[in-house]
This record gives sequence, C-alpha cells and structure tokens, in this order.
Amino acid sequence: MSGGVHSWLVIAPALQYKQEQKSRRSRIEIFFPGFWRPANRHVRPEECCVLGRNENGLTMKPLSKIRTDVVGSLLRPKHLKNAYVQHEQGKISAEELRQIQDDAIRAAVCLQEKAGLDVLTDGEFRRLNFQDSFAASVSGFDPRRSELSFIEKLSREGKPLHRDPSTLEGGAAILRREPVSQKLRLVRNLPLEEFRFVSQVTGRPAKVSLIGPDRIVQRFDYQNSTSVYWSVDDFIADVVRIERQIVRSLIDAGCRYVQIDAPSYTAYVDAASLDEMRKRGEDPMKNMARSIHADNEILRLFDDTTFGIHLCRGNQRSMWHREGSYDAIAEMLFAGLRHDRLLLEYDSPRAGGFAPLRFVPKDKLVVLGLISTKVPELEKIDDLKRRIDEAAKYIPLDQLALSPQCGFASDAAGNLISEDDQKRKLEIVVETARQVWGTAG
Ligand SMILES: [Zn+2]
Repeated sequence: MSGGVHSWLVIAPALQYKQEQKSRRSRIEIFFPGFWRPANRHVRPEECCVLGRNENGLTMKPLSKIRTDVVGSLLRPKHLKNAYVQHEQGKISAEELRQIQDDAIRAAVCLQEKAGLDVLTDGEFRRLNFQDSFAASVSGFDPRRSELSFIEKLSREGKPLHRDPSTLEGGAAILRREPVSQKLRLVRNLPLEEFRFVSQVTGRPAKVSLIGPDRIVQRFDYQNSTSVYWSVDDFIADVVRIERQIVRSLIDAGCRYVQIDAPSYTAYVDAASLDEMRKRGEDPMKNMARSIHADNEILRLFDDTTFGIHLCRGNQRSMWHREGSYDAIAEMLFAGLRHDRLLLEYDSPRAGGFAPLRFVPKDKLVVLGLISTKVPELEKIDDLKRRIDEAAKYIPLDQLALSPQCGFASDAAGNLISEDDQKRKLEIVVETARQVWGTAG
C-alpha cells in the first residue's frame, strides 16, 4: 500500500506536467494549426557546421551554439558620416562613397576580429537605418526620406534612456504607416552585396541581418493599399517570397548565419502599441500569430543555415520606443518561432525578468543582450556573470550565450557612446563568455 502511495507521488507530478503540456499544446494549436507536426527539417542546425577559415587554416564551427554574438550595427566613423552627407549633396559619386564604405567595413571587421567575437557583421555601414535591408532592396514600399541630416534631425530632441519623442505621436513606435504603390519587387539585393564584401575581408563567419515581416507589416497601411494587395495576408505572402529570395541568395553565396530583426514583437506587450492595433479593429494576438508564421516560412527548408531572431524595444540614439516584459508573449513566441538563436534585449528593467525563458524549447539558444549599447558605462564582468546565473535558473546554461542588447547604431546617427566604449563593450562580451563557457574567442 505504502509502495502504491509512493508510486503515485512519483507519477502525479508527471501526469500534471503532461496535462500542462497538453493544454499548452492546444493553446498554441489555436494560433499555429499543425505546429506540433514534426518540423520539416532534415538536419538539426546543431549538427551543421560552417566552413570558416582561421589563422590555422580551415576549421568547422557550428554557428548555432556560439557563445558570443553581435546584433549587427556599429557606430559609423566620422569620415563615413561625412561621406554620406557629401554624397547626398552630390559632391562625391556613388562609387566614391562605396570605396569609403569598403574601407570603414575593413576597419569594423578588424575591430570585431581583435575583440575575438565568434561571428561578425559589416556594421551595417551600407545602410542608413537597419530597416534598409528591405527598404533599399524592394520597390513599391517605404518612400521614407533617408538622408543622414533627416535621420539626425528626427532624433536630435531625444534624451538617452528616454522614450524616443519622434514616436510619441499616436502613442506607438511606428511613426507612419505607408501604403504600397505597386506590388513589391526585389530591385536590388543589399544584404547580398553586404555579405559578398564582408565575407571577402574576413576569415571569420559573417552574418547578415534582415528586417522581418512583423515590422514591415506594422508599417504597412493596408487600408489604403487594397488596389494593390487585397488583404494583409496577400501582402505578407509577397514579403515572405522576397525575403526567401534574399535568404536563398545569401546561402548560395556562403552565408551560414542569417539574423531576422524583429523588434516589433515587443509591440504585443507595449500598451500604446496595443491600443493602436485595437483602435484599427485588429486583434493583436492574431497579428502576432500571423507574423510568427511568416517568420517561420522565411527559414523553411533552409536546413543547413543558422537563423537568429532579434527582439528589442527601440535603440535609436540611445533611446527606446516600447516597454513591457516578455511574460505575456513568451510562451507563444519562444515556442512558436523556429529560429535557432533568440537574441533578446535584457539590459534594462523594461525587458522584465528571466522567468519567461522557461518557455524556450530545448533546441534553441538564447543570446542574452546584457551589455548595453545605450550608455558608455562599462558593465562589470562579475555583474554579468551574476545575471547569467540568474537566467540559468530558468534555462540550462548550455542554452545561453551573450551579446550587446542591440546594435550600436540602429541608424547612422548612432548611439551616444564613443567608439572606444564600443570597443570595450565588444571585448567584455568575449571575456565574460570565456569565463562562463570557456570557449569564446
Ligand atoms: Zn534591437
């Protein structure tokens, strides 16, 4: 009898866990029909390696498990900013600007190599804004002005660590929603141009970031676009088609790590953004489910490539534009996204605690964005290690990695820190990772 009770004590929690999993499964099924079917991936990303050259010759490195990471953008050097302006004023040609960009990218690569990062980027020096990965490549959408002077004017009034005043109108982060003028068409493949160059000037793996469908659709004025796209679904299908085309070209060129920039997912926990959606008669959770599905479609069948997805709450010129912890969306988002690496902002109380990390499935890695690109103060390694330990209460240490919380310059204006601060912050990512996991660098 006592044995029976004992068995029940062992079995009961297991049954309860199974029931919880079942109800979690049915909740997720509402948003992702067929989600629990086996993923159509023939090879797990952690089994895949990428050929990358190092000082000792060829070596194999699985990018899905690297411990150090960067979100993408770096501070534009002064001479590069001057070149943007000179080009806008017609004083230098596109070719002259490109050569100045090339030189600046070589220096940015050198900076990241010396810091010892496992993966690097071109600093997004060919973009004025991180969203140019799509906007500068596709016709029919996004007629934003994109001169440096306009960008700097837009954020000049803001104060570091405050809400970006340029986004306050209407209360949400999206400044303007734009209608499309014609069906989207890939007219220039900027991410491919970026990868081709950066991969030529480094022996380390280079990654490329691409703005995801969620932000694109949040900026899409569908009410005034019905003559071109009869529904939002119709529009997103085209976004996905074009982004798959870009990803395919990157993979063909040798890229093995693609990052989707998805800052807008935090709209689904930000009160002002939720209000905007509801005012338009939209169901925010349906919007989010649609975006997760679109994000997953982009990487479907690209099995030998590591995919990351980056979430944050705004970064322009050391400011922010959204607030709210991951709690309310963590289960649906972390379980729903099929990306290998979740690059999550965690440098301020606006991001909340680590408890939502318990929803991250075992085959994913969370890159903790603990080092702030918004302030010059250098984090202390002991504090970073304490925060990593705190996160490891909710997810195994082996599923964690480290990076800055965002880029250093989401647009060319850049955050209010110096290039020296940036260098020290990159170095501390590597040194902390080395002390925690012993493998970085
Ligand atoms: Zn970010």
